[in-house]
Amino acid sequence: SSVNLNELMEIVLKRLKPIAQKKNIELLFESFRPVVAEIDEVKFTQVVSNLVENAIKYNNLDGWVHVALNADYQYFYVRVEDSGIGIPKENQDMVFERFYRVDKARSRETGGTGLGLAIVKKIILMHHGTIKMHSEEDVGTTFTVRIPLNYVQSDTEQEGRLS
Ligand code: ATP
Ligand code: MG
Repeated sequence: SSVNLNELMEIVLKRLKPIAQKKNIELLFESFRPVVAEIDEVKFTQVVSNLVENAIKYNNLDGWVHVALNADYQYFYVRVEDSGIGIPKENQDMVFERFYRVDKARSRETGGTGLGLAIVKKIILMHHGTIKMHSEEDVGTTFTVRIPLNYVQSDTEQEGRLS
């Protein structure tokens, strides 16, 4: 159904604000335009929650998390950027795998199952979207999600489903 993304993002960030405040992390939301898209509201709420939770969890005291929402005529984009611990190059290919956690001394004390990003990826694929990650150790991590505003099934997909 039609979902107001600006509203969805505001609600998620408001809910996560207390967790950020515990580490004195600045949580900033920037919206470049009003965005309405045909998505699953509950599932996409989980996508944003998981990404922002990670950005807070794998961050340093007094760090920051910047979330941005934008769109063009075809897609909307959500970017979650953090000033956190980053992900070493050799582990970057694995983070979307179920149960995978980068187990290093400085992040070991943070709880978690390693399912968050696997769920994020699955939901984004359900929406015919993409997710890209850029990360640098001790600098931070950026996830960029791109989802069609209004996915129209192609004829061949329709045929595949009918046959
Ligand atoms: P869960 O989300 O199930 O509670 P989790 O956070 O460990 O547990 P994922 O969200 O799937 O699991 O993330 C997998 C791993 O990727 C994390 O354990 C962490 O090592 C790394 N990671 C994820 N997001 C970030 C980030 N923003 N900065 C640094 N490392 C990250
Ligand atoms: Mg997580």
